[in-house]
Amino acid sequence: MKKYSDCYFCGGIVEEQFLPREIRWHDQLLVFENVPMGVCVQCGQKVLLPETAKRIDLAIQAKQKPSRILQVPVYQFQADVV
Ligand SMILES: [Zn+2]
Repeated sequence: MKKYSDCYFCGGIVEEQFLPREIRWHDQLLVFENVPMGVCVQCGQKVLLPETAKRIDLAIQAKQKPSRILQVPVYQFQADVV
């Protein structure tokens, strides 16, 4: 368990969870799974420790092999859709 400070926004307690994290890298959407991040129990705000963000950057730069490839549907927002 890593240490997270109280929520920057609401002062709530921040607990570590392992969640997926989407990252935009140039024109690509990348997904990292099981990323340790702090989640505020009050407002749900998520925080990544700098060391965690750095590990992700290094993995991308080292061209770590993805464990699987997702297909992602892309939609145009339409205001009048029921
Ligand atoms: Zn909060």
